[in-house]
Amino acid sequence: MVMDWRSAASNLKPALIACAGAAFFVLSTPSLAAVVPVPAVKPTSAEQTDDTPSLKVIAGTPVPARKRAVPEGYVASKPELVLYPDFPAKNYFGAANGPASLKARAIGSYAKGCLAGGTVLPADGPTWQAMRLSRNRNWGHPELIAYLKDLAADAPKVGWNGLLVGDLAQPRGGPMLSGHASHQIGLDADIWLREMPNRRLSTEEREQISAISMLKGPLDVKGADRRVDLNKWTDVHARLIRRAASDKRVARIFVNPTIKKALCEFEKDQNRAWLRKIRPWWGHHYHFHVRLSCPAGSVGCKNQNPPPPGDGCGEHLTYWLSDEPWVPKNPPKKGEKPKVVKKRPMALAALPRDCRTVLKAN
Ligand SMILES: [Zn+2]
Repeated sequence: MVMDWRSAASNLKPALIACAGAAFFVLSTPSLAAVVPVPAVKPTSAEQTDDTPSLKVIAGTPVPARKRAVPEGYVASKPELVLYPDFPAKNYFGAANGPASLKARAIGSYAKGCLAGGTVLPADGPTWQAMRLSRNRNWGHPELIAYLKDLAADAPKVGWNGLLVGDLAQPRGGPMLSGHASHQIGLDADIWLREMPNRRLSTEEREQISAISMLKGPLDVKGADRRVDLNKWTDVHARLIRRAASDKRVARIFVNPTIKKALCEFEKDQNRAWLRKIRPWWGHHYHFHVRLSCPAGSVGCKNQNPPPPGDGCGEHLTYWLSDEPWVPKNPPKKGEKPKVVKKRPMALAALPRDCRTVLKAN
């Protein structure tokens, strides 16, 4: 229900909830959030008698307080969500459990924005299953949902039974309470590097089953063998990612550098254009991460610069596969705790202003 997440977000601070047309309540404790506003209208005596339950008063039994009558046809107005610009944006967006019923629009940039008019990817399709349903992150811009359905439909053609789909975005996008810096504007999707089984997974299985890493071993060891494990990685994985990248809507696909290397070796064809979109990045060995370009009509959606020209299989990748990015230069001494830099969460004020409209929308 919409009311729930609004109350949840409001209760972060003693909140002032304005109820249009009725009265004003200042709520200072979360428990009061459930109070339904009652209009300041004196009930007539007829209403009082009609609404008062006939109670036999038995000695010693407490008599329930008289209920105030609510005029017929009265509908409690929705409390308005009060937004504090200096508050962490993730608290608001993480509490929004339904989409903003506005025209679909990806607003801002992939790691600093939000989503209007989000569409849900159904938990089940003929050739896909959405995972980790409890996270409620299977929302996206309609173009992302359409893209995923198309990719899922084509998966069996490349020999992949179907997709296991991981996180897309929250119903209204925005920063999340856990994980992911991006996935904020409904144009990012994680697809597991594990084939969909031939049966429907139960809700519990979708929480518990883990994805499969393609790595041969740890990468942060000097001289590590930074290649995919050929007991897990197959040409079918490669064909699926090639199909995923060969779509005009896709801007980039993030994979582990070991996977990028495997894809560079896999493509024997002259047409290597799709490889340009495959970008080596940290992690991403359990899933690949598809990022779409800003859809037409998404005013205020910011594309990234296109990847550098070429297939990206040369020097840049050699660097990624060397010790340089992986092996720490000054490892913490024995008994010393590694330094943890705590980042301040992004404040609501850092997001485009339209994201407040997204939060406030029905
Ligand atoms: Zn991702």
